[in-house]
Amino acid sequence: MSFMTYYYNAAMCLPTLLLCVNTLFAQTSYDLLLKGAHVIDPKNKISAVADVAVRDGLIAAVAPNIPTAQARKVVNVAGLYVTPGLIDLHAHVFAGSDGVGLAGGHSSIFPDDFALRVGVTTVVDAGSSGRHNFAKFKKTVIDRARTRVLAFLNIGGGGMPGDDHEQNVNDMDAKAAADVAIANRDTIVGIKVAHYRGPDWTPVERGVEAGTLANIPVMIDFGDFRPERPFQELVLKKLRPGDIYTHAFYAPVPMLDEKGRLLPYLFEARKRGVLFDVGHGGAAFEFRQAVPAVKQGFPPDSISTDVHSGSINAGMKDQLNVMSKFLNMGMPLDDVIYRSTWNPARIIHREQIGHLSVGAIADIAVLRLEKGQFAFVDSWGARMDGALRLVGELTVASGRVVYDLNGITRERWDRLGKYQPQGESFWDGSRGSGRPRPLPRGK
Ligand SMILES: [Zn+2]
Repeated sequence: MSFMTYYYNAAMCLPTLLLCVNTLFAQTSYDLLLKGAHVIDPKNKISAVADVAVRDGLIAAVAPNIPTAQARKVVNVAGLYVTPGLIDLHAHVFAGSDGVGLAGGHSSIFPDDFALRVGVTTVVDAGSSGRHNFAKFKKTVIDRARTRVLAFLNIGGGGMPGDDHEQNVNDMDAKAAADVAIANRDTIVGIKVAHYRGPDWTPVERGVEAGTLANIPVMIDFGDFRPERPFQELVLKKLRPGDIYTHAFYAPVPMLDEKGRLLPYLFEARKRGVLFDVGHGGAAFEFRQAVPAVKQGFPPDSISTDVHSGSINAGMKDQLNVMSKFLNMGMPLDDVIYRSTWNPARIIHREQIGHLSVGAIADIAVLRLEKGQFAFVDSWGARMDGALRLVGELTVASGRVVYDLNGITRERWDRLGKYQPQGESFWDGSRGSGRPRPLPRGK
């Protein structure tokens, strides 16, 4: 707002002081206004061109044609998509007690290094920590990151420090894990069971027991698929409604009959309430499973990465790359966003995030849908050609701009004026410390 505009408005409202105050207040009532994008907010059933206004780190308004005069910073996002900040339900962001990382020679990655640049504002660590080292995870990663970090606590006491530990059922204590989960309810959203090779159900049963004691879901990586413990029994009997099987399109999952039709038990499991997460990772996503599943009406409940140093440099790459695969398999964009925002929020019972309701934390992704000739790689070494690719343009986390690919929140260098280290001209519409806002209590 220029001085002249200010003066004009002030003069015009002199006759009624109250109106004057209201007008001046209204003129600066939003910190940031994202103008003209197609807003996709599945929880609120919005898929239309609209403006989104942010104030004090919260969503303040979603409506067509919000006047630009009401915002201190206006960003033209016409032609782009505005969605809730993405939620990656399966990530690895803790390097373990000794810092060497995960089984298989892969490492966890600090969340801000990969998440914010692709619109992800919340990651859920999938069992990289256990009850022995969750406190270290919290101190070294969760409490430092700009990305909101939630966690599935590994049923194994030490998390994922290597294969030996992950086979050690003696360190899988359901009661002790549940106690740590209950003591850290703000962060721990579930229990993780992973990478087991033995013939018995012990890790699954201990995981479900811990989940029952703490009243939280369990996420299962089934490890070796063995005839002694059939996958069908896992999803039809062992898991409770609301529990999650991750690695939905992993080759060993019995998915198709000899004629390429989806096996009916999958629909039965879904009907029971068992959830299917993508958990792409380095080895767990095959087009020969995913394409027929999507085409025959068995989409994943949540689209997630299983990000680690291996998958990020292989077929997985990042959350938007995995989402783009589903777009190119024929899943509509609104549906892809739903399974990357509101549905994962519901799965982990964090209904405070994953949407753009007025009053919600302003976690926002601004995405570009590119059209061209692209290709995508799976874990089997196969390629799928496609014509669509999602790109992260701008990410706002708790009201603060944390990533801006093309500087759309910034003034052009030759228009910025004189150098003012603390000046308004450097302002990008952000508020807040850059740390994620704590989630409000309740749902
Ligand atoms: Zn994983």
